[in-house]
Amino acid sequence: MTTQASSLYEIRPTESKGLGVFALRDILSGTRITAEKPLLIALREPGTIDPITVYEAFEELAPSQQQEYLRLYPAQKQTDFALQCMDDDLPVEIRNHVAKISSIFESNAFRLGSEGKQNIDEVHEAGIFPTAARFNHSCVPNIAQTWNRLIGMMTIHSVRLIKAGEELCDGYTSLTDDIRTRQARLAAYGFVCSCEACSVESLTGKTRELRREKIRKLEQSLSLFTEQTKSVAGKKLVSNGNEVVKRHEDVLKAVEELEGLLKEEGLVGHDLLRWYDYAAWYSATHQSQDLTAILQWQKKAYMLDLQIKGGDHEDTDLARNRLTDLKHRDMAKVLTKG
Ligand SMILES: [Zn+2]
Repeated sequence: MTTQASSLYEIRPTESKGLGVFALRDILSGTRITAEKPLLIALREPGTIDPITVYEAFEELAPSQQQEYLRLYPAQKQTDFALQCMDDDLPVEIRNHVAKISSIFESNAFRLGSEGKQNIDEVHEAGIFPTAARFNHSCVPNIAQTWNRLIGMMTIHSVRLIKAGEELCDGYTSLTDDIRTRQARLAAYGFVCSCEACSVESLTGKTRELRREKIRKLEQSLSLFTEQTKSVAGKKLVSNGNEVVKRHEDVLKAVEELEGLLKEEGLVGHDLLRWYDYAAWYSATHQSQDLTAILQWQKKAYMLDLQIKGGDHEDTDLARNRLTDLKHRDMAKVLTKG
């Protein structure tokens, strides 16, 4: 295998999930585990597939790269889907070959873009990263993958302390969805998740499911309130009438509660960062007099950017500059008062 050598992890067979990635030693939180250039890039439109476009990109690869590509796993569901999308008049052998290449792409490609910042339904570039593709899924992931545009690499960072021997797992789907939705989405990858959050028969699983429901309600309530305050008069948004966030004063309290729940649930990567970014933005735009609150949220956002995206990511740079600017303003305020 041409994957990069690392003293941090090894790729080896698991009992039931094919290959997996395991820590060779304790890995501190915020460690960059991999940084990898894409082997292949193609456009992807959610809900549909384009086997020929992927095949054309595959044909551009060198023979050794094609071999590396073909070692990745094609989910049966994606292979069937690709076969349905192709002309019947192509020879069977070619149809099967193109379908496999398309299926590998759909089963393994990562979106190239900022996590959680774009519309999930829009056409986007996606890339194949052979090492990153070996990390299995867990609904309680201990790593976070991020596309770093400045260095043109997909990076993977640990989001907490990982003990030697632990499997390193990523989250393939929206982790705050309920178990049924998560399992339905994961079926596209050809497996049933059996992580501790999905073991609903156990007490841990039940507790986690309830906690995720609380998280979802808070997230929905915050999103709805934000949309309502942004939307033009007369535009009605769907509300279930039980919203937690009804007034501006409720917003940051709700984010604090969400922060506690996400930490308890171990969703401390991009899920948590999204709300730190939100709170920093919200306090700066709606409570611009409260410099202490803005500073507090911006500092959290910056620290987490640094931890899961790294010091060379443009978002970290931006967060650092904002923080510096706020500190200068804070200093100026103190000096004026004195
Ligand atoms: Zn799970």
